[in-house]
Amino acid sequence: MTGRIAFLGLGHMGLPMAANLAAAGHDVRVFDVVPAARDAARERGLAVAESGADAAAGAAVVFTMFPEGAHVLSAYRGDDAAVGLLAAAASGTLFVDCSTIAVDDARAAHALAEAAGHRSLDAPVSGGVVGAENGTLAFMVGGAASDLDEVRPLLEAMGARIVHCGGAGLGQAAKMCNNMILGVSQIVVAEAFVLGERLGLAPEALYDVAAHASGQCWALTVNCPVPDIVPTSPASHDYRPGFAGALMAKDLGLAERAIAETGVEARMGLLAREIYKAFASGPGAGQDFSGVIHSIRSESAARGVS
Ligand code: NAD
Repeated sequence: MTGRIAFLGLGHMGLPMAANLAAAGHDVRVFDVVPAARDAARERGLAVAESGADAAAGAAVVFTMFPEGAHVLSAYRGDDAAVGLLAAAASGTLFVDCSTIAVDDARAAHALAEAAGHRSLDAPVSGGVVGAENGTLAFMVGGAASDLDEVRPLLEAMGARIVHCGGAGLGQAAKMCNNMILGVSQIVVAEAFVLGERLGLAPEALYDVAAHASGQCWALTVNCPVPDIVPTSPASHDYRPGFAGALMAKDLGLAERAIAETGVEARMGLLAREIYKAFASGPGAGQDFSGVIHSIRSESAARGVS
């Protein structure tokens, strides 16, 4: 794969991802709408463009790593203040959006790119800021297999696992469905510990049983919500994320939207969305999502159960 790469969106994830691309020897030009983010990129030795359109012009591949779907769609289209990325890029450019956005926004982004004569992939990631820094992200990719093959070496510079999930939007669908499993299972693991506590069951004993029985899952054995059972869990480190409550609430909001659009009977997913939304409206926003155990404890106490 040759040609210049544009990388737009230099936040918690995008900056280290772009830095890993540059460190792997690729010709990368970056941009962010926030001046401080551009300064941070310069400090890491990255070449900063004048604007998003400036970075996209002449690039073979344009990566975006923005907060929400609305940012992706407006950057692709452009507005009064900025030339759209699609209009600025040469025909046939490959657009790769790594932001976590709704499936229908991802499909709208693919359609816009195609209508403008370009190719596109949705390629959301998991692995968090640590994975972005260490180049160990997992990419879930939607779009044409041939386009993925073209950018695979670039994704390998930023990640350790790349899964082609199917056509347009299906990378986002896979990420959202996985996070719905994770969100629900983390809540029920926390509920089981609180219920066990109320019944006089030591958390260590519950862990010893469930970790080797049919209750075994990642939310228990890696992300155990009770401190000092799994030494590497966020709970054992004052609930430092990990995966922040705000991000889980966001991802389940995307699931809620997809559930409404498809009419799927998904009561557990919707309930989990409600629980994390409340959790993330307070200090839980910045804590690991396993800190949801605090909400379960305090609501149990509020019911008069000690
Ligand atoms: P962030 O808010 O730190 O960074 C986003 C950056 O995009 C900001 O610097 C913003 O100024 C920039 N931006 C927005 N519109 C732009 C435009 N038109 N042109 C150029 N720059 C623009 O967010 P983040 O934590 O880096 O997350 C990015 C995406 O990755 C989100 O969708 C998030 O849900 C997802 N994600 C985050 C994590 C995590 O742990 N932070 C993990 C997995 C996935």
